[in-house]
Amino acid sequence: MFKLVCGAGNEDCESVKKLVYIYAKAGCKYFDISANKEILASAKEAVALAGADEAHFCVSVGIKGDPHITKAKIRESVCIKCGNCLRNCPNDAITSSIIVNEKRCIGCGTCAKKCPTGAATMYEKDVNVKEILPYMVENGVEILELHIMGHDKSDLDYKWNVINECNPKYASICIDRENFGNKEVLARIRNMIAHRKPYSTIVQADGIPMSGSDDSYKTTLQAVAMAEIIQNANLPVHIVLSGGTNSKTAELAKQCGINYWGIAVGSWARKIVKPYINYPDFWTNQEGLKLAVAKASELVKASA
Ligand code: SF4
Ligand code: SF4
Repeated sequence: MFKLVCGAGNEDCESVKKLVYIYAKAGCKYFDISANKEILASAKEAVALAGADEAHFCVSVGIKGDPHITKAKIRESVCIKCGNCLRNCPNDAITSSIIVNEKRCIGCGTCAKKCPTGAATMYEKDVNVKEILPYMVENGVEILELHIMGHDKSDLDYKWNVINECNPKYASICIDRENFGNKEVLARIRNMIAHRKPYSTIVQADGIPMSGSDDSYKTTLQAVAMAEIIQNANLPVHIVLSGGTNSKTAELAKQCGINYWGIAVGSWARKIVKPYINYPDFWTNQEGLKLAVAKASELVKASA
């Protein structure tokens, strides 16, 4: 299974529509989008436009402290307009006047890391899961995913309970090792799946979240290592690799004996089609569309 990750924080309807369209044409059947009504409608529209006969949607939310629910902000008073943030933003979320387009910001934190003055910082933007997640399931979303890399245990319990009450086809746990060691990671998963039916849970083994900026084995190494930790624990879950995933992930995972259920690709999948998405005549540029779909198809095939 190949899953296109549009970005849990990506609330730009037009860019999601273009991404989903390209990847649906390329044979992708799983689409990970933000928990947002307009984004779900745009993704469905794109699938219909692409003429795809099968599409499954996953929406992602995060607990407090998880980077996937953050957005960037820029303090004008300390900004020296050096442009580092603008040049390095992977989602074109910063305008030439150094203003963050919140809808496009996926919370990767690159701008804050590259900012020499501390003008670019991150803040949390939470959603009302009790309101939005039931709507998503009622409207055909099959996978509800929770990013759990934060220290707020009560927020984790609350949001996981809401997900379970929604009774989606699959509940998904997205976890990496940046804040916690292997023991804590496995303890969290064991606790969360204790009352769930076997294999009704996906564990998305996140290598280094939102790090897939190139197509090397090194970039995808941590996702494979994380998947191995989950696999060795013999849990009744499906394993999906993510976080630094690219066209090398399937090959490396197979070489390492990982019995994965799927590969979720975000940063790299978006990067390889970005030049075409930025075409002003995207929807009518047949040559551009053909090239974009060819690029996406290579990645989808390599991720089988
Ligand atoms: S670099 Fe990342 S965090 Fe900063 S504005 Fe762009 S998408 Fe948002
Ligand atoms: S990197 Fe920091 S100082 Fe430079 S333009 Fe961006 S916000 Fe301003």
